[in-house]
Amino acid sequence: MSSATPITVAHGDGIGPEIMDASLRILQAAGAKLDIETIDIGESVYLRGNSAGIEPSAWDSLRRTKVFYKAPITTPQGGGFKSLNVTVRKSLGLFANVRPCVSYAPFILTKHPVMDVVIVRENEEDLYAGIEHRQTDEVYQCLKLISRPGSEKIVRYAFDYARVNGRKKVTCFTKDNIMKLTDGLFHKVFDEVAKDYPEIENEHWIIDIGAAKMADTPEMFDVIVMPNLYGDVLSDVAAQIAGSVGLAGSANIGEHCAMFEAIHGSAPRRAGQNVANPSGLFLGGVLMLNHIGQPEAAETAHNAWLRTIEDGIHTYDIYKSDASKEKVSTSGFADAVIERLGQKPRVLKAVDYTSSGVRGMPVPKASPTYRANKETVGVDVFLCWADGAPDDLAARLNALDAGALTLAMITNRGVKVWPEGMPETFCTDHWRCRFMGPEGLAEAAIQDHIVKLLGAVNAAGLDFIKIETLRTFDGEAGYSLGQGQ
Ligand code: NAD
Repeated sequence: MSSATPITVAHGDGIGPEIMDASLRILQAAGAKLDIETIDIGESVYLRGNSAGIEPSAWDSLRRTKVFYKAPITTPQGGGFKSLNVTVRKSLGLFANVRPCVSYAPFILTKHPVMDVVIVRENEEDLYAGIEHRQTDEVYQCLKLISRPGSEKIVRYAFDYARVNGRKKVTCFTKDNIMKLTDGLFHKVFDEVAKDYPEIENEHWIIDIGAAKMADTPEMFDVIVMPNLYGDVLSDVAAQIAGSVGLAGSANIGEHCAMFEAIHGSAPRRAGQNVANPSGLFLGGVLMLNHIGQPEAAETAHNAWLRTIEDGIHTYDIYKSDASKEKVSTSGFADAVIERLGQKPRVLKAVDYTSSGVRGMPVPKASPTYRANKETVGVDVFLCWADGAPDDLAARLNALDAGALTLAMITNRGVKVWPEGMPETFCTDHWRCRFMGPEGLAEAAIQDHIVKLLGAVNAAGLDFIKIETLRTFDGEAGYSLGQGQ
C-alpha cells in the first residue's frame, strides 16, 4: 500500500458532518491511507460576509493537496451569495463531472433494474459561463459558449473513461439540429475524437429524444457525454431513476485538481438526527480512492457497501418493508459496512478495481489550437427599438450613411422580419440588423466601415445594444442565418 495521500476535506453543512464522518470511517477502515487537511467552507463562511463561501486559506490547502473531498453545503437564502460549487469547479479547472448512476434491484426499488449509466458532463462552459445581460426593456440574454478545446477535453475524457473501465459505448447528446454552431461543434468534435477509439461504439442522439429514451430504457446506454446544462439536468434524472439521488456520488476532474462529492444537498431538515444516508458521499469517496491510486481500498469498501445494501441494512430514505431488513442510522449504516469489509455481494455484481487498472484516469489535453483563415464579411448590429414596424426600422437604417455596408436583413428574436417578413410574427423591442460588405473588401477597410456605421446609427438616435462581427473561417460562415432566411 502506498503512503498516505494528502487530501483536503470539508465537512459541510446540514447533514454534511454526519455523512462525512461515516464515509471517512468506512474508507479508512477499508485501508485508505489519507493525510487529511480540514477546511471550513459554506454557510458559516458566507455568513461571515464572504460572498464566495470559501476563505483564501482553503484555496491554499486545495492547491497543495489537489484532491478535495467535499460534503454538501447550504447556500444561505437571499441574493449575493455565489454558488460555491460553480466557483470551485471553474477556479480549479474541473472540466469533467463524472456521475455513475447504477440501480441495485431488487434491494433498492427502481423501475429500471438493469441500469448502469455513467454521465460525463462538461463542467465549465455552455450557459454556465455566467455572462448575462438585460439588453432592452423586454429582452434578457445569457451567452452560451462552447469551445473546441473544452469540447475535445470532455469528449476525450468520456472515451478514456470508457476504455479504462471496460465500457462498450459512448453516446453524445446535443441539440445541434437547432444550435448548429455551438452544439454542432460539440457533435463534430465527438465524431472526430470517436475515430481514435475504434473499439468503442459511438452514437449521437438529439437531446430531447435521447433524454426520453434514457428515462424510459436506460439499459440502452453505457457512457453518455454532453454539454453542461443538459448534463446538469440529465445527471439528476439518471440518479433519481436508478433509485435515489441520495445514492449517487460524483467526481469533478481537472488537469491539476479533482473534487469528489455526493450529488445531493445538505438536507437541513435532517441535520443532527443521525438518519441521513451517507452512500452518495461514500461512493464519491470510492471514486476518489481510485483517482488517487488506492484501488484496493476502493474495491474493499465498495464491495462491503454492496453487501450491506444486499443484506437489507438500509437508512430511512431507501427503507421499504418488502426490500429491506433493518432500518439503521447514519453511523449504524457505517458500522454495518465496516463489519462486512472483506466480503463481496452475492447477487449484485462485485466491483473489481484492482485488476481492471482503474488507477487514476488520464487527464486528456486538447490538441494544439488550430488557427483558421478568417475574413470579416459584415456585422450584426443589435438595436433596442419600439417605434414601429420592421419596414419603418429598415427605412431608417437604409437612410444612414453605412459606407460600403448594406442592410441585408432584420430579425426579431432570430426570425427574419425584413425583407419580406410575415405579418403574423410577434415582435419585441430587440432587433438584429445585419449589414454585409461587398465581396473582396479588405479586412481593415471593413472594420473601418463598421465603426463608421455605428457612428451613423448613434447619430441617428438609434439605441444600439451590441454588435457581432460576421466572419468566415476557412471559407465557412461563422454565423447563423435568420430563421426564415
Ligand atoms: P437536498 O438534496 O439537500 O434535499 C432534497 C431531498 O432529499 C430532501 O427531502 C432531503 O431530506 C433528501 N435527502 C438528500 N440527501 C439525503 C441523504 N443523504 N439521506 C437522506 N435523505 C436525503 O436538496 P435541497 O433541499 O434542495 O437543498 C438543501 C441545501 O443544499 C440548499 O442550501 C442547497 O443550496 C444545498 N445544495 C448543496 C449542494 C452541494 O453542496 N453540492 C447540492 C445541492 C444542494
